[in-house]
Amino acid sequence: MNDEGESRPTVLRGRVFTANRRRPWAGAVAFDRTGVLAVGSLEEVDAAAGSATRIDVGNHTIVPGFIDAHNHFLATGESLASLDVRYPSVASVEDLVEVVRAAAATVPANGTIHAFGFDHAKYERTPTRWDLDRATDAHTVFVQHVSGHHVLVNSRALERHGVRDDTPDPPGGELVRDEHGRITGLCLDAAMGLVLPVAVDIGSHGPNFHTHASIEELVDDVERAGDAFLAAGLTTVCDAQVTLRELAAYRAARASGRLPVRTVAMPLSHQLEAYRSIGLAGPFGDDRLRIGAMKLYADGSLIGGTAMFSEPYGASGEFAGSLYSSEEDLARMIAAAHEDGWQVGVHVQGDRAIEVVLGAIEAAVRVSPRDHRHRLEHAGYPTPAQIGRIAELGVVTVNQPSYLFDSGDEFLDRLGSRAHGLIPLRSELDAGVRVVLSSDSDVTSYRPMDTIASAVGRVTRAGRQIGPDQALTIEESLFAHTIDAAHALFLEDRLGSLEPGKLADVVVLDRDVSAVAPDELASVGVDTTFLGGRPVYRGGAA
Ligand SMILES: [Zn+2]
Repeated sequence: MNDEGESRPTVLRGRVFTANRRRPWAGAVAFDRTGVLAVGSLEEVDAAAGSATRIDVGNHTIVPGFIDAHNHFLATGESLASLDVRYPSVASVEDLVEVVRAAAATVPANGTIHAFGFDHAKYERTPTRWDLDRATDAHTVFVQHVSGHHVLVNSRALERHGVRDDTPDPPGGELVRDEHGRITGLCLDAAMGLVLPVAVDIGSHGPNFHTHASIEELVDDVERAGDAFLAAGLTTVCDAQVTLRELAAYRAARASGRLPVRTVAMPLSHQLEAYRSIGLAGPFGDDRLRIGAMKLYADGSLIGGTAMFSEPYGASGEFAGSLYSSEEDLARMIAAAHEDGWQVGVHVQGDRAIEVVLGAIEAAVRVSPRDHRHRLEHAGYPTPAQIGRIAELGVVTVNQPSYLFDSGDEFLDRLGSRAHGLIPLRSELDAGVRVVLSSDSDVTSYRPMDTIASAVGRVTRAGRQIGPDQALTIEESLFAHTIDAAHALFLEDRLGSLEPGKLADVVVLDRDVSAVAPDELASVGVDTTFLGGRPVYRGGAA
């Protein structure tokens, strides 16, 4: 039961970005735990709010809670507690060996070392199991690639899983081999499932990072990541690859009051037949935990070199790309999911793979047209003709411009002039596509202001421009990370903007973002985060 004091409305006065396109900016917003009560000028809101707690935040920007429509929530929680081997702290093979060696000194013999985030495109050469063996032969070592699509393991891990030089590559994956045919320990895409201690068999439906862990550990991971999200201004997060492992963790976290953010789960396509057999399709659930779109994979990773372009990339065209399933199987799954009423979210990067996916969606929609909002996850390199088809179909693109900062230098080296056409958000907006910004955490930073800084700046880590004509404005970026993300989740009726009747997820940023230079946007922090009208995070300045 709320007491009198708790149920008093809050009025925030400041620079309010409403995300309502009819009136994007306002001077104040009033809300309580039932939702947003009023938004408008100071006078309008004061008149509507009556007896309220009034907080003046000066010229700081007040925004709807940010929505991350593609984020690996649970994996982010795991990575926050794991050995961090991200660039730039690990920038070479020797750095990697050193970090694993140091970790081995603190883990009992026969234990497991699980590291997250290596990015060997930035090293002098690709590391191998023999490098990891130099770090330790007394532990099983798994080092996950920053893309989430690859893993590097030591020889002991290969032995443990019975993977040998004569083990064939699985469909949709590759065990990388040296010139003598020996497996090097680097396992690409669907081959991850052969070497990781996986808890769930997902076949070739995607990269398998669903490793064994107790439900207690998983709930800890959920809470750890959820608290970090609130501190970054995220109030709704969509996990873009969910198996029974993740769904069990979110349900347990929610049941014990340890699910800090509104959570949408995208079941992976290996479960499509199971959902069909019981007649269930998303969206399904409530405002705290729900099932959203069905997740499918077309090609591999742009960063990892397995994205499928019509013209292979790399200095000598060495990255030909690969598909997780055959074109026919992918089209069959998309058609079946569409027929059942699912929204689909298809991981797709290169233009060759986008062609396959658009063809499949077009065929499915032709049979039964509806407000499907099918999603292209990442949509790295759509051609101008494909952008027209995306707009025509009412497909939304769920984009991660932080890739341009993290890996833009490799993209420029590997793709040449094509790199400037990656994540072509300006062309998509001009064509009428409803673009969505998201993080793909833990592949990149989960902070919305990092994502927005990359959408606006389009500058690589080394400071090179990458497709500057495709930059968004700060206001366009805010729409794409709030109301248009809500639309992509079929939640725009209650989330994503500050309008009377919506749930009161509200974030106060620590300055006026419309007055911040593009190269300083990433440094914008969060004063306060409200979820459902309750303050759930207060930063230093609040
Ligand atoms: Zn992802």
